[in-house]
Amino acid sequence: MNERTGQGTALVTGSSSGIGLGIAHALAAAGHDVMLNGIEAEADVAAQRDRLAETHGVRTAYARADLTDPHAVDDLVGEAEDRLGPITVLVNNAGVQHVAPIGEFPDDKWELILALNLSAAFRAIRAVVPGMTARGHGRIVNVASAHGLVASPGKAAYVSAKHGLLGLTKTAALETAEHGVTVNAICPGYVWTPLVESQIPDTAKARGMTEAEVKRDVLLAAQPTREFATTAQIGALAAFLCSDAAAQITGAALPVDGGWTAQ
Ligand code: NAD
Repeated sequence: MNERTGQGTALVTGSSSGIGLGIAHALAAAGHDVMLNGIEAEADVAAQRDRLAETHGVRTAYARADLTDPHAVDDLVGEAEDRLGPITVLVNNAGVQHVAPIGEFPDDKWELILALNLSAAFRAIRAVVPGMTARGHGRIVNVASAHGLVASPGKAAYVSAKHGLLGLTKTAALETAEHGVTVNAICPGYVWTPLVESQIPDTAKARGMTEAEVKRDVLLAAQPTREFATTAQIGALAAFLCSDAAAQITGAALPVDGGWTAQ
């Protein structure tokens, strides 16, 4: 436990960049010590980790771990608890995507997407739930997607994994409901991340469009507000779900998608 804030340890998978890093900042701002994870080398994440600790005055650690390896998930949970103390918040955020028509969808991409986006979340929940229920308190947040609620062509594995993650969320919520543990999913639409930003110039060139047109008419075509969500907005919702104020929200799938799934 963090002696200054009274909060415990938050493990955020896939938090070396993008949405996971935004969630890590929001949880650190709320006083949680944070275990970061990703596939990058420790040295490449050191500056981010230092900034997190210095900005919010919490303890941080980083573990490089490929969570498609079933044993890596248990090892990561063990390492987080050894270094920072019992996990009171788990955020399953690590995820990858591949786009191809179903008739051509490669086996290895199907296996990778299911392994990381769904199976790793199951294993992490399985690893932390006994401790959370024994202590009578815990918060689990799964980062799904608007694609957990609706489909798009070319995304068979991603849509299947994210729909599966919502089923896992509901089941875990019911199993832990009487033990002070909540389990919820956040369903982002398009979020402004370095990865999204880096794809825009090439798409603009390939389609003969301006970068503004790519944002509005390609990436945000399904998002009625025509604006990206931000990593800070996703982080703020995750931090709220982890607060005492959200104790009666469990088993929910909360869209942050500018109205996409209202259509
Ligand atoms: P990102 O590509 O910016 O970051 C991915 C993170 O996952 C990194 O920290 C990376 O190190 C880690 N990672 C990748 N492979 C891994 C592996 N095998 N084991 C452990 N960690 C691994 O991703 P992002 O865009 O911030 O997306 C984060 C989550 O949000 C994903 O689950 C994604 O499906 C979901 N999401 C993203 C968007 C979006 O617009 N960016 C929209 C909806 C949902």
